Amino acid sequence: MLDIDQALELVLQSSLPLPAQQLPLNAALGRTLAETIHSDVDSPPHDKSIVDGYALRAADVSAAGMSLNLLEEVTAGKLPTHHIVPGAATRVMTGAPLPLGADAVVMVEKCYEADDGSILINEFPVKAGQNIMRRGSSMKAGQGLLMPGDTLRAIEIGLLAEVGRMDLKVIPAPSVAILSTGDELVPVGEKPSAGKIRNSNECLLEALVKKYHATPIPLGIARDETDDLRNKIEQGLQHDVLVISGGVSAGVLDLVPRVLADLNVRQIFHKINLKPGKPLWFGLREESGQQRRCLVFGLPGNPVSSYICFELFVRPALGRLSAHDDQRWHGVTATLGNDYEFRGGRFTLHPVAVHEQGGKWIVTPLPWRGSGDLFGLSHADAVVQLAGEARTFKAGESVKIFFLN
Ligand code: AMP
Ligand code: MG
Repeated sequence: MLDIDQALELVLQSSLPLPAQQLPLNAALGRTLAETIHSDVDSPPHDKSIVDGYALRAADVSAAGMSLNLLEEVTAGKLPTHHIVPGAATRVMTGAPLPLGADAVVMVEKCYEADDGSILINEFPVKAGQNIMRRGSSMKAGQGLLMPGDTLRAIEIGLLAEVGRMDLKVIPAPSVAILSTGDELVPVGEKPSAGKIRNSNECLLEALVKKYHATPIPLGIARDETDDLRNKIEQGLQHDVLVISGGVSAGVLDLVPRVLADLNVRQIFHKINLKPGKPLWFGLREESGQQRRCLVFGLPGNPVSSYICFELFVRPALGRLSAHDDQRWHGVTATLGNDYEFRGGRFTLHPVAVHEQGGKWIVTPLPWRGSGDLFGLSHADAVVQLAGEARTFKAGESVKIFFLN
């Protein structure tokens, strides 16, 4: 049986970046840029005041308490109409263009307006250039700002807006079809009758797809029956990724691998050394002579298995399709807080509480009922990796954990 690193390597080998598309700025959050962006403006566009205060000539303030004549007031968005001549000052608001002749701004808190309208400056000395942001000091027209491969966070979205880029070339969001299988499932909005459960995996997987900046396409429930599975899987294969929940274990109604084979989806692996998540199925459909391909993940139906397999395998694949650097679920080193009896066998990820102590992550294993116990997982901060023969993991041992966030 493959271990998780070998399985992940096979998934990543099949995951290629999607071709770039022109998209509107408001759809670009989390995308990877596929062009170079230059500024079309100087920022700021003029020398501006960065405080509310008085624009003046620094040399005019030769002692504390100097009095200057007020010329006018300039608010942000307005233009000054007077030059600053010796002995004069103009009231300016934050962001307002600096009047010609001024070389400094004194904060309003340090000035006093006398009854006759003159301004007393209670700051000395005043340095030339103080409280002024020069035209183009942040960026200049023509300057390169962003490069192909850059990930667009909210900061970059704001920057692109500053230079007027209403649309741009990016790697689009992968579209991810989600199909739940099982005769026991009812839609989440219904009360399950005897023997039934809600199709909670659809919502879980939809949330995970959104979390990794891809587009979920929920396809509802397919019954454990060849024709229904075939129809719904065919719809799912029209997308970049198809995530199927359930139907990949060894039960009599686990028909998914057979139906996928009939639909020319090439199996790359089935079953891995992982608990929870052993029955994971992964394959690929390539349309002959075309660039288009669909990655197909058959996740075990138990909610915790689906969750863990998504984080370990679907998440890095979505990262690769999106041309992100590395979207793997990375583990970190932590310290076991108390002894833990490991039964041995499969490579196991067990829910734990984590707290910080003296610069270390201290881990406490939690009671957990296994792959069907999503409520148990909801109390955990992370999962701890346990492997090898049956033994007691001792308090103080180093362990690897994967944070849940
Ligand atoms: P399977 O992988 O199809 O054998 O399903 C294993 C178990 O996972 C089932 O017995 C259900 O309890 C549970 N399960 C399957 N599909 C879902 C789903 N869509 N939502 C919640 N639980 C599910
Ligand atoms: Mg099933």
